[in-house]
Amino acid sequence: MIDALMLFLCIPPVITYIHYIIYGYPIIYEEMLAVYNTNIREAMEWAVSYVGWGNILLNLMGILGIYAFVHYWRLKVIRGYKDNRKQRNKYIVLAVVIALFYYPLFTLPKTDCVGHFVLAAKYSNDIKHYSKDIADKYNAIQFVNDAQICDTPHTVIMVVGESACRDLMKAYNANYRYDNTPWLSQCKDDSNFIVFTNAYACQSLTQQILENALTEKSYYNDKSLLESMNIIDIANKKGYKTYWITDLEGEDSASTFSLIAERADNVIHTDGEYDESMLDGLKQIDPTENNFIVLHGRGTHSAYTKRYPKEKDVFAEEDREAEYSNALRYVDDFLKNVYNYGIEHLNMQAMLYYSDHGENLQTGHGPSDHSFDKVRIPIFVYLSKDYQNKNRDKFQQLLLRKDDFYINDMIYNTLCGILNAESNFYDAGEDFSSKEYKYRLDDLWTFGKEV
Ligand SMILES: [Zn+2]
Repeated sequence: MIDALMLFLCIPPVITYIHYIIYGYPIIYEEMLAVYNTNIREAMEWAVSYVGWGNILLNLMGILGIYAFVHYWRLKVIRGYKDNRKQRNKYIVLAVVIALFYYPLFTLPKTDCVGHFVLAAKYSNDIKHYSKDIADKYNAIQFVNDAQICDTPHTVIMVVGESACRDLMKAYNANYRYDNTPWLSQCKDDSNFIVFTNAYACQSLTQQILENALTEKSYYNDKSLLESMNIIDIANKKGYKTYWITDLEGEDSASTFSLIAERADNVIHTDGEYDESMLDGLKQIDPTENNFIVLHGRGTHSAYTKRYPKEKDVFAEEDREAEYSNALRYVDDFLKNVYNYGIEHLNMQAMLYYSDHGENLQTGHGPSDHSFDKVRIPIFVYLSKDYQNKNRDKFQQLLLRKDDFYINDMIYNTLCGILNAESNFYDAGEDFSSKEYKYRLDDLWTFGKEV
């Protein structure tokens, strides 16, 4: 028992060491926040993708080996004392006991993984009353303009992608070896689509990004999540029935974005193995109402081969790049299906897609190494002809900005603009559809406020 406890206390430095081997950096707070909010399935997929079964087994065997070794020698030492009936010096025993408590109580919480983990747990706990705080603010929302973007019942869809890196997408990189975006490549030639070419993620971890993308909070203001209005409440107030459709597990997940998701009139968990299960969620939506729908799936998050069914295996090479491209191609197909359903059944006036962050095929999307493929993301918007006619200025403005630099923590304000929902919780400076958008390449931050 004592040996098992000692072994357990040794785990944090071992985790730090493994992290260092993989990324070349110690563990940072943002990573432990992601760990705190993950679930078993996601954690296992991460371990298998970046540590590998071989290394996991090797580590387990190493740990068990150390345990057996320590246990054996300790017993041997104790046996050596068997006939020694001498009183032990009680002051020495007391000193040893105090020393034994010092490490777990005072030193351990200062190690990078345990210390950051404790802070992450505290933060996640502190923001639990987001819903209540925002419900109070909801009544205070006042729109500048009462007009809707369309006079008949219509739908606006936002798809939040996951781990899509534009460097590895054919639509963005014409010379790329895999044709993994046949639908998006076509959209580039469609005058109702604007495919932005210089979009970046504000961080490389889902939680921090969605906190910023979905709410007023951004790396350019000092707002905390608790005081930040979110796009779901804005859409609600604007008269939309709001939906959050997801195939991610864990209704009771501690993720901060689930607090925002819960503000929707309907949260639909489609529990499918692949993102296409979210299409069933779309079928529950009433086309005679105004609907604002968020779709949040697994996208191309590792492990890549788990993101698409076997029969969608288009690029047959057995390497990570081909697997990632298969996943991207599956997402491309999924987006096409969402678009088609919206057009055919929901009088869709606008569809916005962006990835939360990018991906590095060797190290995933941990933020410690600032590798830019982790933040180069795809973003596109579809705006119907009706929308374009009725909201000409906004469409023109977005079209002009096709190649401008943009960071996805400004999604909230941009969507407020697209929805005609400018209010007292809105900053035109962060709205890509506004003439007042004020950021240029040199003003923009990524990887939090690090780069
Ligand atoms: Zn993500």
